[in-house]
Amino acid sequence: MGDMARLGSWIEPFPEGIYVKPADAWVDPSRPKDRALITHGHADHARGGHGEVWATPETLAIMDARYGEQRGAQVGYGETVRIGEVDVSFVPAGHVLGSAQILLEHRGERVVVSGDYKRRDDPTCPPFVVTPCDIFISEATFGLPVFRHPDTGSEIDRLLHRLRAEPGRCVLVGAYALGKAQRVIMELRARGYGEPIYIHGALERLCRLYEELGVPLGELRPATGVPKAELQDKIILCPPGALNDRWSRRLPDPITAMASGWMRIRQRARQRNVELPLVISDHADWDELTRTIREVAPKEVWITHGREDALMHWCQLHQIKARELNLVGYEDEDD
Ligand SMILES: [Zn+2]
Ligand SMILES: [Zn+2]
Repeated sequence: MGDMARLGSWIEPFPEGIYVKPADAWVDPSRPKDRALITHGHADHARGGHGEVWATPETLAIMDARYGEQRGAQVGYGETVRIGEVDVSFVPAGHVLGSAQILLEHRGERVVVSGDYKRRDDPTCPPFVVTPCDIFISEATFGLPVFRHPDTGSEIDRLLHRLRAEPGRCVLVGAYALGKAQRVIMELRARGYGEPIYIHGALERLCRLYEELGVPLGELRPATGVPKAELQDKIILCPPGALNDRWSRRLPDPITAMASGWMRIRQRARQRNVELPLVISDHADWDELTRTIREVAPKEVWITHGREDALMHWCQLHQIKARELNLVGYEDEDD
């Protein structure tokens, strides 16, 4: 090798996260570390207990709400900060409010850690920005050609159509508390739905935080303690775990829906007794993943949490060096 060091030799993947040696910092570590750079607020990426957290102001606000006040530094989109011997920038990832790709520059090499991302419009956060680099560390949650997410507007239209076709009932939508719930609400508003939307108590705090951070959600009302008759012909949102629990039995004959990229898989919908699966995802589908790799045009792609094999194969076919990182602890809170 001599002095021709391997590309990205200053970045070390460990099962518990990506270690950036010359910054003495970890990206999205799953265990408490002295210094953590956090891509976004989902619990599998942003954990409590770090010494020092570097993240966008929105991600820090989300972490404050979940884990108590964080010690650390805010880095806005487009700002560059120097940590040790590394220039660090946060670039929009289009995944949830505050979500960022992290650009790391050291001795002329550029590495982008995507975090989770998607390419289609999301009214709750700024769109993904293509950032050319030498190494692109990409998620691959939906990294199989079978995953092609439909148009979001048409999924929302199916929801509204079903609501109107069955008077006297209600539609209960299971949606993750951070990102998905607020996006479904905004997409409903964008389709002209102006009625109050009822929400499970577990969604209240993050919906309020989104509004404080400048994402207007329209009229929201608590779904708990409301007479059954008031909920007829209404849309109610809850976390996926509440879809089939006691709480939902007090609702007027709910049509059970769920908004998730996994709803593309019929069996997943059946497991949760979902009558109305809505394929709405905050992750890139197969076409978005491959388009992004083409546009970013890295020398190497390192692939994290997901179905690495198919994307590895695709990279090889396209003469891009690819490597899979076996990070652990990335669950799909946020699918
Ligand atoms: Zn993730
Ligand atoms: Zn996520």
